Parts: sequence; structure tokens; C-alpha cells
Amino acid sequence: MSGGIVDLSASPPPERLSVEVCIVGSGCGGATAAWELARAGRDVLVLEEGADFTGSALTQRDAEMYDQLYMDRGARSTSDLGVSVMQGRVLGGGGVINASDVVPIPDEVLRHWEVGHGLSDFAPEKLAPFRSAALLDLSANLPGEERLNENNRLLRKGARALGWKGEVMMHNRVGCAGVGSCLIGCPLDAKRSPRFVAVPNAVEAGARFFLRARAVRIDSALAEEKTVQVRVLDGKGYREVGAFEVKAKQVVLAANAIASPQLLLRSGIGNQQVGRNLMLQPQLPVTGIYKKEVRFFRGIPQSYAVTEHELPATERRGWWGFRLESISGTPGIVGSLLPAIGPAGKELMTRYANFAALLCLLPDEPVGRVRLERSGRLRIDYALTDEIRARFRLAARAAARCFFASGADQVLVPAAPPLYLRSEADLPELDGLSLEPATVPLMSAHQQGSVRFAPSERDGGASPDGQVYGTRGVYVFDSSGFPSSASSHTMTPIITVSRYLTQRLLGG
Ligand SMILES: Cc1cc2nc3c(=O)[nH]c(=O)nc-3n(C[C@H](O)[C@H](O)[C@H](O)COP(=O)(O)OP(=O)(O)OC[C@H]3O[C@@H](n4cnc5c(N)ncnc54)[C@H](O)[C@@H]3O)c2cc1C
Ligand code: SF4
Repeated sequence: MSGGIVDLSASPPPERLSVEVCIVGSGCGGATAAWELARAGRDVLVLEEGADFTGSALTQRDAEMYDQLYMDRGARSTSDLGVSVMQGRVLGGGGVINASDVVPIPDEVLRHWEVGHGLSDFAPEKLAPFRSAALLDLSANLPGEERLNENNRLLRKGARALGWKGEVMMHNRVGCAGVGSCLIGCPLDAKRSPRFVAVPNAVEAGARFFLRARAVRIDSALAEEKTVQVRVLDGKGYREVGAFEVKAKQVVLAANAIASPQLLLRSGIGNQQVGRNLMLQPQLPVTGIYKKEVRFFRGIPQSYAVTEHELPATERRGWWGFRLESISGTPGIVGSLLPAIGPAGKELMTRYANFAALLCLLPDEPVGRVRLERSGRLRIDYALTDEIRARFRLAARAAARCFFASGADQVLVPAAPPLYLRSEADLPELDGLSLEPATVPLMSAHQQGSVRFAPSERDGGASPDGQVYGTRGVYVFDSSGFPSSASSHTMTPIITVSRYLTQRLLGG
């Protein structure tokens, strides 16, 4: 079989196809597995419901890019509208639209998985070579001092004034010109994401990628040969316009921690744990408004993190506390997150160039669940615990202090009603932040845990080698398997774990 990338919305799909391994999803998990399997001589087909966007096709226009590059056109959220669930839907997956921060799985987290969750297969010594390989894939490098934009410098200035620890994060950009639209794709192709590493390498090794191909069901999960039912989508990815079947000896799900359990549930396979234990690692944006221009929308959006309040994982408890990271946004997303519309919203947006922004990022308990409604529609249930609300208030207070310590004129927490703080004396107002659903724009970019790896069927949805319990040869190679937050960012951990599990599948 020769490799290639075929957009099925433009070419007639085959009626039936037989391969050794069918992979669902072309992101960090799927593309990495495809590369390793094809390199080992396996006949591999990857199904991807997104299309291919690179270079000038990444137009930097909010509306068309969220529409084309994100799951549910950027509008996916939890059932109570409390958390916006952001995920890529494009060849290369989330790596195409993410903030490019490279944060590996710490040894402490792996030790926690080993001791706290009985996953001796994930001991740090076993994963270490795969973590190094992931860093190589990503061309991981530290941005030089000259690459830190004013937004990131202000966060660092505030942290230093308060005597707090922080760090510049590694990233996977090479040849970045600081255009700043990373979250709707890099028009200069400067991200060394799976789109430009694992995908072309997999194709070179013989793997095929079918685009606008949505896997909707897996049949005969216990048989030697499984059948994946696939729908062909139209060019924009809005409608299903055709169907075909793929026969495969092995099926690898790497569709993300929402779509992988969704497909298992749709197929009626797996145990009672499938869909449970979802973590969203929610993030709260906080804005500093300065008298001077910050122009946070130019340059690398997210390169500095305040790590002062993080609690490293222990054997018994996962990574905890909170972390503050700079962030920026294109006008569309910023306008939609601000707590004002009409003339008040317009007035606020006139100060866009004076904003600085950060995210309060919190590891969470596995309290969420991916379900299917009676109609078959996806439902994501997630309720903030009292503990996480309290931690968010602490994080918002720390964020506000950092902004004031670097000279902010005001701090805005985009809640309904909005909270404007004018000095440290206003900090107690944050104690009243209710965090009721849809009163603050919480976001999730790092979903994990919904088919978690566990040594026993009682505790998880997949065995430690990634095989879904109750199936023969259906695997999960994405963050669905993580029993606790792998890290403050998930791209590097997913590449690490996917390559590790693929080698195990190959018998290495
Ligand atoms: C806005 C944003 C910023 C982020 N920033 C960072 C960061 O700076 N650093 C970091 O480490 N992580 C970051 N992340 C997280 C990281 O990008 C993701 O965790 C990672 O991309 C997930 O990899 P994956 O392979 O599991 O899934 P994805 O990359 O989501 O890939 C899954 C693919 O499967 C496809 N798919 C889903 N269902 C089906 C189906 N039924 N049939 C066919 N195809 C299907 C999807 O279209 C998608 O392309 C960010 C995420 C977002 C959304
Ligand atoms: S800052 Fe601009 S050039 Fe650099 S990666 Fe982001 S979008 Fe690409």
C-alpha cells in the first residue's frame, strides 16, 4: 500500500476497505501511532473528520477558522454551559490550533500513576525514553528573551515583584515571526505540530489518511476482524454525504478524550467505566487593563507561567494547586469572552490594545462524564466542586495581585456581573465570585481521563496497554487513558504515551 492524504469530500470513497490497523483521529495520539506502526511495516489507515489547513488557508479570520478548525465549530460546551470544551478538528488535531507550549509529564505524576493507580507499566523509568522522543518530534526549544512579548513580561514582572516563582515554557515553534494568531492556526507553518512531523513521516512510511471521514461506530469488537462504520462529510464538514466500511484487525482510538469515549458509547462496547472520570482542567481568564498599550495580540501568546502555587504530584495525590499563564486572543474570541455587549462591549473593545491577559489553570478531580443522550447526541456533564471553586477564587486573587504588582490600572474578571478591581483593596470582592454555571467563561483545553487506564476492569475503561476492556484489539491511545492530569499541558504527554503504547502493541 502506498501512503497518502485523501480528502474524501473531493474524491469518491471506497465502498469497503480492509487494513491491519484503523486509527481514528490524526492528532498527537493518532498521527504518532500511525507513524510508528507504518514504520514497522503495518498497513495503516487514519480516519480524520477535519480537513487539511496549512499556510495561507489559515486565514487568521476568527469566524471561519473556529468554524473549520474546532470541534462543534468552537461552540462545544458542558451540558450546563459552564465550561467551553475546546478541541481541534483538522488534520494534525489540536496541535494545529494550540498555544504550542511544551510541558512534559513530570516524573512525580508518573510515580503517582504507578503507586496511586497501580499502573506499574507507567513507571518514570519506562516512559523516560518516549518523553525524550516526544521532545525531539516537537523540536522543543526555549523561546529567547527577545521572543517574550509585553504581556508575558508583565506577568513575569508582577511575579518577581511579589517574590513568586515562575518559568518560561518550552515551545515547538521554529521560524516563528510572532504574528500571534496561534490559536486559529499559524499561517507561517511555524509550529512543529503533528501536522508537520508525524503526519508526513507516517505518509512517507506508507500510512494513508482519509480526511472528512467520520468514524461513527465500531462493530464486532470481539472478533478477529472489526468493522468501522464511516461517514463521508461534505467539503465544509457540516453534513454526512456518504458512507463506507473499514475492516481492521486492530482499531486505535485517538480522537480526543471526548470523542474516543463517545465512539465507544455509540458502538455499545466497553464497560461501565467508559465516559466516566472525565477531567477538564478548567481555565479562568483574567484581564489586566493598563494605561499604556500592551498589544497582547502580537507575538507568542503564552510563554510565561507563574508556578508559585503549584503542588507537585505525590505518590498518593496528582499534580495540584494552580498555575497562572499569560494568554492572548484574536478580536473575535476576546469580544465573545468579555462581559459586555452593545455600546458597553464596544467601549471595552476600544481598550483591546491596553489589555493583558492570563489564564488560571487548575488540575481537577475526575468528576465529569461523557454520555450519550437518548437521541444519540453527545452530552458532557461536569460540575465544579466546592473545592475547585475555592481554588479558583485563590487563583483569581493571585492573578489580580500579579497584574497590580506590574502596574495595571484595573483588573477585570469577566464574570456576570463583571468584577472590576481598582487596587489590592478590592481583592475581597473576589470572595463573592460564585462561579455558577455560565457566569464566568471557563474554558477547557486539556480533557483527560474518560476511558482511564487501570489494572482492573473495576477501576477503569482500558487496561494498562490501552486495550479497551471487553474488546479484542480496540485500543485508546490518547489522554482518555490518563488517570490524573498528566501535566499543565497535554500535547507532549499524549505524544509520549501514544508512542509508548504503540511500541507495546508492536511487541517492543
Ligand atoms: C486552544 C487550545 C490550546 C492548547 N494549548 C496547548 C499547549 O500550548 N500545549 C499543549 O501541550 N497542549 C495544548 N492544548 C492541548 C492539546 O493540543 C491537546 O491535548 C492535543 O492536541 C490532543 O491530542 P489528541 O491526539 O488526543 O486529540 P486531537 O489533537 O484533538 O486530535 C483528535 C482528532 O480526531 C478527530 N476526530 C474526532 N472524532 C472523530 C471521529 N469520530 N472520526 C474521525 N475523526 C475524529 C478530530 O477531528 C481531531 O482532529 C491546547 C488545546 C486547545 C484546544
Ligand atoms: S506567533 Fe505567529 S508565527 Fe509564531 S507560531 Fe504563532 S501564529 Fe505562527
